[in-house]
Amino acid sequence: DSALPLQALGAEFPILAQAINGQPLAYLDNAATTQMPRQVMAAMRDFEEKERANIHRGVHTLSQRATDAFEAARATLKGFIGADKAHELVFTSGTTEALNLVAQGLWAGGPGKAWLRPGDRIIASGLEHHANLVPWQHAARMSGAELVILRPDAEGRLHLKDLEALLTPATRVLALTAGANATGERPPYEALLALAARAGALTVLDAAQAASHAVPHLSQIECDFMAFSGHKMYGPMGIGALAGRRAALERLYPLRLGGDMVDWVSYEAAGFAPLPARLEGGTPHVAGAVGMAAAAQFIDQTGREAIDAHVHALRAQAVAGLSQIEGITVLAPHATQSALVSFVAGGVHPHDIGTLLDERGIAVRTGHHCAQPLLEHLGLGPTTRASFALYNTPEEVDRMVAAVARALEMLR
Ligand code: PMP
Repeated sequence: DSALPLQALGAEFPILAQAINGQPLAYLDNAATTQMPRQVMAAMRDFEEKERANIHRGVHTLSQRATDAFEAARATLKGFIGADKAHELVFTSGTTEALNLVAQGLWAGGPGKAWLRPGDRIIASGLEHHANLVPWQHAARMSGAELVILRPDAEGRLHLKDLEALLTPATRVLALTAGANATGERPPYEALLALAARAGALTVLDAAQAASHAVPHLSQIECDFMAFSGHKMYGPMGIGALAGRRAALERLYPLRLGGDMVDWVSYEAAGFAPLPARLEGGTPHVAGAVGMAAAAQFIDQTGREAIDAHVHALRAQAVAGLSQIEGITVLAPHATQSALVSFVAGGVHPHDIGTLLDERGIAVRTGHHCAQPLLEHLGLGPTTRASFALYNTPEEVDRMVAAVARALEMLR
């Protein structure tokens, strides 16, 4: 069983070795945040103990070491996502900031300079996390463009023909997820991005959910911008990245204006630095970048395909188990490439299920998962979501399914 070596890695995650409410912790909230292995923490601690200083332009040794560590982290992450010479990667505080940087960067900058203009069309898929929807609502308001939603079908799938019907010569942006955090849907993003790119749109991919197990390969897809977060791929919180085509990143008006992102400054005006500094104003989270790169290395040492196969198997086991329980509806049951299961139980509030699971040491997330329009479109309300990582085990899935069954008996 290829899953066994992975579970053994659970010992590398100190936080997992604890009891919650007297029961061994079964941490099934990995779509919100994954836990960190010792080697990621060690890389961050090493940086703080031996190399910490502000980066760039420092002549002293520690500043140079810190700069080298930051740039080495960038190089590692570019390799991790399959960036080539035409690509660049800028560090952000996470996926949310990365997507705001794109959306704002495409309307800001003054008349005649912005990519988005009145009458243009922005298409966002109906599967998006609020982080890839609300910034586009704002960009549309600020630019005079219209925001159009690529709606999923009743089962939460996106279709190429529906995108085709929405594409017009005025379409300037497609914003799409590589994995929907509320349902587990994995849309055919490669084909959808290619279609939009052919129509002349810039393409924006939210890879937050994919980065831990199925990271998109940047140079193999028609992707201008890709956003992801460290804390969802076994790395630290407060760090993330926006990667993409240099030519596309150069179109962005910077979100953070100030030090480190300028070439020259007078009292009246400033000239912005070239990429990547141009989009990285202020002191970055250098230890975070170091940790995020260490997390990418951890994933590659462990094996992307092994992780992917493991989490898919856990999701399939959870779907099969939950489907046996009367009254439970699993969202996107067809999604075989998913690392999470989201479900509703008629008449029972997810919050109550989540509370009863926590009493048994099982951590799941309940609510709208920052995707309220999608759940409303599907005719559903809040859901319960269990999401899997390399350290989870089939026994934990069994415990979760049994605890859900017991919770429903109590609550009905
Ligand atoms: N997009 C998706 C699909 C997500 O799942 C999340 C996190 N739940 C985000 C964006 C936002 O990521 P962050 O909170 O790290 O900025």
